[in-house]
Amino acid sequence: MDFTLPEEIEEKRKKVREFALKEFTEERKRYFDENEKYPFEIRKLAYELGIINFSNPWDLLVSIEELCRVDPGLGISSFVYAFGSEILMLFGSDEQKKKYLEPVQRGEKIMGFAVTEPVAGSDVAGIASKMEKQPDGSYILNGSKMFITNGSIADYVLVLARTAPPPSEEKRHHNMSMAIVEMKWPGVSANKLKGKMGVRATDTAELVFENVRIPPENIIGEIGKGFYYVMTFFNITRIYVAAMSIGIAQGALDMIVEKAKKDKKFSSQESIQFTIAEMATRVDAARLLTYRAASLLFQFNPDPVFTSMAKYFAAETATYAAETALKVTGLDGAITSLERLFRDSKIMEIWEGSSEIEKLVIYRMFMKKMGVE
Ligand SMILES: Cc1cc2nc3c(=O)[nH]c(=O)nc-3n(C[C@H](O)[C@H](O)[C@H](O)COP(=O)(O)OP(=O)(O)OC[C@H]3O[C@@H](n4cnc5c(N)ncnc54)[C@H](O)[C@@H]3O)c2cc1C
Repeated sequence: MDFTLPEEIEEKRKKVREFALKEFTEERKRYFDENEKYPFEIRKLAYELGIINFSNPWDLLVSIEELCRVDPGLGISSFVYAFGSEILMLFGSDEQKKKYLEPVQRGEKIMGFAVTEPVAGSDVAGIASKMEKQPDGSYILNGSKMFITNGSIADYVLVLARTAPPPSEEKRHHNMSMAIVEMKWPGVSANKLKGKMGVRATDTAELVFENVRIPPENIIGEIGKGFYYVMTFFNITRIYVAAMSIGIAQGALDMIVEKAKKDKKFSSQESIQFTIAEMATRVDAARLLTYRAASLLFQFNPDPVFTSMAKYFAAETATYAAETALKVTGLDGAITSLERLFRDSKIMEIWEGSSEIEKLVIYRMFMKKMGVE
């Protein structure tokens, strides 16, 4: 058992940290948060400098950690432009990869992944959007999607919709399919959502689809397999949300350590020493859980229990660390980057499966492993 990452990955970690410390200035962090603007220029620069490397999953994972350690809003915006890529990598046709995936990987286009609806969040099987097959083989999409990252800036989104009614209550997750929908097509509209609690530099929108015609070549994989594709995707992206969470928790710890370095009165208190010890331990535990789950996933042998444990624990560690840091630094924390980090941390417990949903997955699969069906 080896607990170290390859030297080149640790070198990359340093490079990304230097980038984030240089480019995510206090002024920029505040500007993009307060104005809820997407940082196009920073995303472009991150791409040009090779900060984001989708071809090596460990490289991507440590880069996400280091970007979110300095600022989650700017950090997530720097890599989330390719959101949904794994669906096309795994299930897309060669033509779809060439037309839609490659331009995203080259940093030229922005993609989104649209599953959540006003009526269905955690309960993915409850979606109401419909794609109906037409005599000419195309599909007509009607419905709406909620809280879609990149929604108002994307060139295209991957949409989950029903292509037939569910065969029974137990099989509600059957008969859903995925399609690539271009945002410029007639009948597609996006309404940017403002006033989010955190990660306000990221773009979030409501999408409406009214009689949108989708050519058959834009259907992803097999008709009826959409739910399975989404769950496979979550088993990958939960690892990256865990990495964002570790970054946030580490960032909160960094801020207490900085204060402890400068303020002997602060660091000499036993309660502060205990807080630092506890936080450092939890961050490390979250990292170890995440790296174990990542290691299995990157060897094409994912374990959904380990993945959900990592996502659940890392997300809770992020909110614990941000809240604790805010508490112990008092007014200092309330008016600095920590206040923003505290707001940014909360989403980690919600997207890609809320903590409750992760716990349900862990319970069911853990009990199965224990021989209880
Ligand atoms: C900033 C932001 C960006 C997002 N980006 C995207 C995106 O790009 N694409 C996309 O498709 N979605 C996106 N989402 C949606 C996100 O994935 C959902 O918010 C999430 O799945 C939760 O769904 P919901 O908000 O409808 O809450 P609900 O599912 O209604 O849950 C409400 C509460 O009930 C709990 N709960 C739900 N079901 C159960 C249960 N069975 N047992 C116990 N507790 C339960 C939940 O844990 C939660 O606390 C985004 C959301 C936000 C806020």
